[in-house]
Amino acid sequence: MLYQRSSQLFAEAEKVIPGGVNSPVRAFKSVGGTPIFVKEAKGAYLYDEDGNKLIDYINSWGPMILGHAYEPVVNAVIEKAKLGTSFGMPTEIETKIAELAVSMVPNIDKIRFVNSGTEACMSAIRLARGFTDREKIIKFKGCYHGHSDSFLISAGSGAVTFGSPNSPGVTSGTAKDTLLATYNDLANVESILDANKGEVAAIIVEPVAGNMGCVPPAKGFLEGLRALCDKHGTLLIFDEVMTGFRLAKGGAQELFGVNADIVTFGKVIGGGLPVGAFAACNEIMNYLAPVGPVYQAGTLSGNPLAMAAGLTMLQEINKDSELFTRLEEKTAYLERGMRKVLNDNKVAYTINRVGSMISVFFDEREVVDFDTAGYGNNDTFKKFFHGLLAEGVYIAPSSYETWFITDALTYEDLDYTINAVNKIFAS
Ligand SMILES: *Cc1c(COP(=O)(O)O)cnc(C)c1O
Repeated sequence: MLYQRSSQLFAEAEKVIPGGVNSPVRAFKSVGGTPIFVKEAKGAYLYDEDGNKLIDYINSWGPMILGHAYEPVVNAVIEKAKLGTSFGMPTEIETKIAELAVSMVPNIDKIRFVNSGTEACMSAIRLARGFTDREKIIKFKGCYHGHSDSFLISAGSGAVTFGSPNSPGVTSGTAKDTLLATYNDLANVESILDANKGEVAAIIVEPVAGNMGCVPPAKGFLEGLRALCDKHGTLLIFDEVMTGFRLAKGGAQELFGVNADIVTFGKVIGGGLPVGAFAACNEIMNYLAPVGPVYQAGTLSGNPLAMAAGLTMLQEINKDSELFTRLEEKTAYLERGMRKVLNDNKVAYTINRVGSMISVFFDEREVVDFDTAGYGNNDTFKKFFHGLLAEGVYIAPSSYETWFITDALTYEDLDYTINAVNKIFAS
């Protein structure tokens, strides 16, 4: 395939946009090459500026769970746009989507809409801090909760020690309030809580990690976090920006039967428009302005276009009782097919999968946390990425990302993909 026009467009973009992209994950830094410029997309396929057709396994990093340019969502947005795109005043549709979300997700009474997953997580920890009157939070190494300062903290050595910022611009003052723990390691979490008694406002976790590749919670991990939070008066925040409305109607809370105190959303909930949200029981949500003292606001929050896309998306998901079964079956089929060809070709690998989140690591060792996820970040992954791309299959340009399976994929697409994987390693 040729990427002449994409390369040209990228060169032009680089002159006026840092790195030519508006979000770093779009760059091909870890795999090499230049990013592909998309012209349009429909269903499971991307069409780029050079006229190539690509089977899409990223789907805008999650939102397009029903496929690109999904007609009911597109139509809802078009109709809403004609009536005005933002008022900065309340609209009925905000209540409608809130009612539907509250009815689908376990254990929440109220929800507030924002413009991104980043905003949702940032606001959730402010709310947790205000509610508990405590300052520290625990996050897990390798979990991503958006780019707000408190979350851009990487591990030092011991997780009990204070984190150090992993981006210039994050102050050490902010970093000292973020304590780092190891995913799937309850003893580690417990020791951090014990060392910081009465000081930890919240533990924030991706209930299925998707930002170090797909890393499922070990059996008992989420239940253990729940118990530790209860014991220490700490709030448990499930960051369901990726898992919400993807793993089940009620997200990971429903799938694993574990309740969080605050849940954050993004991606699917916006149907492809910029939407995030955070939700909790009345007691916690009423701590938020204008009812309570914790301030949070947004000029475009809950704007009619975003709400029309999100509401339509949630309605479609809510009425389709077979959706999550189909997604599970399609992704399991892809997993089986890839396992077979990777085994046949004697490739060292690990595949992790929960529902429609799946990732391939090129190392045979189990991947359970950030350090083990690093094993698969290697040359085989680059070969895999570029090999798939050459066959017209687009996966995330980093081994630290999950694939987002869309219901628009057909079994022919999946067979084609499995065959493409075989070609890469048979040669
Ligand atoms: C994508 C993501 C975010 C950030 O959402 P944005 O809309 O990109 O700000 C936060 N948490 C998780 C788990 C995510 O996957």
